[in-house]
Amino acid sequence: MTRRHQTEELFEPYDTGTLSQMRKKLRNWYRQRARDLPWRRTGNPYYIWISEIMLQQTTVAAVVPYFERFLQRFPDVETLAAAEQGDVLRQWEGLGYYSRARNIHKVAQHIVTVLRGEFPRTTDELVALPGIGRYTAGAIVSFAYDRPAPIVEANTLRLYSRLLGYDGDPRSTAGQRLLWAFAESIVPTKKPGEFNQSLMELGSQVCTPNEPDCESCPLLAGCRAFAAGRQHEIPVAARKPEITPVVEFAVAIECDGRYLLRQNPEGQRWAGLWDFVRFPIDDAETLLPHSGLRAQRAIPAKLLRTLRVRIADDVGADVAELRFLKEIRHSVTRYRIRLQCLHAEVSELPPSTEHLKAVEPAAFDDFPLSVTGRQLADLIVAEHSTDRDLLF
Ligand code: SF4
Repeated sequence: MTRRHQTEELFEPYDTGTLSQMRKKLRNWYRQRARDLPWRRTGNPYYIWISEIMLQQTTVAAVVPYFERFLQRFPDVETLAAAEQGDVLRQWEGLGYYSRARNIHKVAQHIVTVLRGEFPRTTDELVALPGIGRYTAGAIVSFAYDRPAPIVEANTLRLYSRLLGYDGDPRSTAGQRLLWAFAESIVPTKKPGEFNQSLMELGSQVCTPNEPDCESCPLLAGCRAFAAGRQHEIPVAARKPEITPVVEFAVAIECDGRYLLRQNPEGQRWAGLWDFVRFPIDDAETLLPHSGLRAQRAIPAKLLRTLRVRIADDVGADVAELRFLKEIRHSVTRYRIRLQCLHAEVSELPPSTEHLKAVEPAAFDDFPLSVTGRQLADLIVAEHSTDRDLLF
């Protein structure tokens, strides 16, 4: 059977009558059950764009406070375009995937300078911009302008796969072609924005990954996965990336109460954000004590030598004293990182440059930091206030 015939067969249950029933049930369900989310109260394409970029790889609960703060600081595309990149990253700090923030800043500048402030209105115009893929373009066009545009994102990918009973890989080229064709075939010309929102909401609230609540699903009658009792098997799970454990070091290098902060360069992890001097060390696992470093305990001599050489090579600072502060465990993409946070005392800091600054703890807040950088900064601020309290 050709792919075209397979696709036609999967579309079979959705004739005009079925589709119209499905849309009606879905609309009624959505009007009763939809969550009140800030980006659903607006048709402003700028707001919708910001929300959609924030929601990539991030949960609704995490996004809501960021979205509200971001729009208070940058209420329109002109304000965003005129901002410093560091200011945009500071507002994004903690949300992760920072290329999203750098891209929205670039796109805002493009809209203001090249498009004279006119927000693009078609999917073709939108996908030509950095950071905007087919889904985000479809969401902006349908939510903001109420024009028909298909959408496929994590929730609808799962929902469509189950409705169609598609047991191939929905992330494969063939799977994507099928789901986008399906999405295109069901989006109505009347109220397409509300229709797309309702599909996403159903996927997120009812057709959930592990425990779909089929009994309360408005689309149960037309769901092939449910009819076959296969809703827990469809869609096939994505292959998990292999996790690599690594050890890295973040060193708060201090001289007379000022600390060295370094900006991550373009093309590297967390580009544009600032951090304490941070690096991996080859074979660090073999240099660490079995139970890890501990406060109050001396750093093993071989590791100490390696760290001194590395810090001198990296920033030209000659370490007098080095002590362990804490270990932070976190993950970045496929890496599980044990970050050893250290404090280094030096007699002189290297000269400040555009990307390297000596900063007092009171000014840490002025810099967009990585999540672990902020944790270390908070620890240093707390240490300094304790020291000050002890003096009085
Ligand atoms: Fe998902 Fe169950 Fe509804 Fe099918 S019936 S769309 S599996 S919630």
